[in-house]
Amino acid sequence: MDLTFASISDIAEAVQNKKVSAKEVAEHFAKRIATLDEKLNSFTTKNDQAIKDAEALDARIAKGENVGPLAGVPFGIKEMFCTKGLKTTAGSKILENFVPPYDATVVARLKAAGIVVMGKLNQDEFAMGSSNETSFHGPTKNPWKLDCVPGGSSGGSAAAQAARLVAGTLGTDTGGSIRQPASFCGIVGVKPTYGRVSRYGIIAYASSLDQAGPMVSSVKDAALTMEVISGFDSFDSTTTQRSVPAWSKNLKSDVKSMKIGLMKEYMSGSLHPDVQKTVENSIETLKKMGAEIVEVSVPMSEFAVPVYYLIAASEASSNLARYDGVKYGHRAEFKNLSAVELETFYGKTRGEGFGKEVKRRIMLGTYCLSSGYYDAYYNKAGQVRRLIMNEYLEAFKKCDVILSPVTTAPAFKIGERISDPLTMYLNDIFTTSTNLAGLPGMSVPFGLSQENLPIGIQLTASHFEEQKMLDVAYALESASPVKGKNPHVI
Ligand code: GLN
Repeated sequence: MDLTFASISDIAEAVQNKKVSAKEVAEHFAKRIATLDEKLNSFTTKNDQAIKDAEALDARIAKGENVGPLAGVPFGIKEMFCTKGLKTTAGSKILENFVPPYDATVVARLKAAGIVVMGKLNQDEFAMGSSNETSFHGPTKNPWKLDCVPGGSSGGSAAAQAARLVAGTLGTDTGGSIRQPASFCGIVGVKPTYGRVSRYGIIAYASSLDQAGPMVSSVKDAALTMEVISGFDSFDSTTTQRSVPAWSKNLKSDVKSMKIGLMKEYMSGSLHPDVQKTVENSIETLKKMGAEIVEVSVPMSEFAVPVYYLIAASEASSNLARYDGVKYGHRAEFKNLSAVELETFYGKTRGEGFGKEVKRRIMLGTYCLSSGYYDAYYNKAGQVRRLIMNEYLEAFKKCDVILSPVTTAPAFKIGERISDPLTMYLNDIFTTSTNLAGLPGMSVPFGLSQENLPIGIQLTASHFEEQKMLDVAYALESASPVKGKNPHVI
């Protein structure tokens, strides 16, 4: 079996049936990480215990135990997720040496399902960014073209998965951080409906928007992973009580009865010609497969980027107040600590610990939440957010799934946009409205640019209708020009 390109279900089945040991699988991928990651910088911490963990699984299998649906599948976990005993920095100096005493619920569920954690994956600091360039650990490279960004903030996850350094990864998406890097690196990334997946143990960025999801190599692998991580968690009161559907078993590529909505506002903007072509091809493909194409409109989506940046920065400024150097994380050095004023202590610690982009957002967010401005900014943004959601709900009366580009252009060069925050924020023009409305969204690879960079198609469905979105993605995947193509770095 070619482990490098094996699917998650193939690996799990082979391990459970003792065709290959979990140890052999872990060793295979550990070797890939050791030889290839130097070029990519996708791993921030490697799990020294991975081989031992795999051996423990093998011992249980030898005793006849069923170790779970993801038996022996090697996973990489974004730095945002707390992992017991394994460093978790959120890409920030302020958490440089933070080793969590517990696992995030999703990590615990994946472990209970049999995964082997290979290590932690690079990301933009506190998931603020679209290029991985704000990481304290230095930028991750795009495996398709090493001078390009992998996207962000889950850029490490996307790069490691595209280079097949692991069989599956986990990312988080607050405004596009799963879908945009998935598109830039040619993998499948899903942001489930808000409330589908527990946020417990995930380092909080903007709590009303954050959601975790799989970044993997196929739609079926995504469905399988979602089945494991989804569902009610008493530690996160925003998780739904709804049961978790058998998405992977129910997958069908028959789109004959489906109505695909094209969002007027997202189809008329100026797109890179290769993105334009990819979108057109995907529409043609679905038409040929028998789907009906309809036009829908979400006029308020025009305000998605400003509304997102007001809400995300406000919530971030509140969430990040906990990093004060008192209980854990980075603390500035003082000659005589007991004589230091508290404000000086906080100021120096936070001044040293946070990067430029994070500071920018804390200042913006604090301003939005301050008395006198709260109503004009944070409250108003919340009202517009509601209108965006209402318009989406109207649009979904006319279609099952909305199809759009993920970004206006393929991956850009490292260094090209980092000095201009506004240009960077405009990366999120097609992705943030999904988070504001709490909808499920995903990216599925469907094109290659002239420069051989992958391009994804974004699919969005109504709340808790992940199956419809996955089915359309499954259909597109079966006809994708990117199928079987891989970055040459591997
Ligand atoms: N690029 C967006 C931001 O910087 C989205 C990030 C995310 O989804 N975590 O906030």
